[in-house]
Amino acid sequence: MMKIECPECKRSFIWTDDMSMTGKCPSSGCDWRYDVREQLKSNVDKKILAAQNAILCPTCGKPISSRLTLCKNCGRLVVGKRSFEKKKIFMVVVFVLLFISLIVRLYNIF
Ligand SMILES: [Zn+2]
Ligand SMILES: [Zn+2]
Repeated sequence: MMKIECPECKRSFIWTDDMSMTGKCPSSGCDWRYDVREQLKSNVDKKILAAQNAILCPTCGKPISSRLTLCKNCGRLVVGKRSFEKKKIFMVVVFVLLFISLIVRLYNIF
């Protein structure tokens, strides 16, 4: 079963396996002829294109919305081509805060 959109009348119809591989558009007054093999080929091309444009999570490989986001699938923070666990981000933040407070203390001493 496959959805085919007619380029002539812009109406789509469902092609089922018991229909012939080539045939006429079922819309009345439209003479466009479909070829299921051609349709399958262009569908695959579209899928490959979509896959190339999509940004994928480096950890789980699922599509994500941007290069700096939380992956909805595995819950990791994605930064560019890397991903981090939320726990690790927390540790980094704590470390940075400790470091800053250390600098402030040193600054007060001198
Ligand atoms: Zn048509
Ligand atoms: Zn993920």
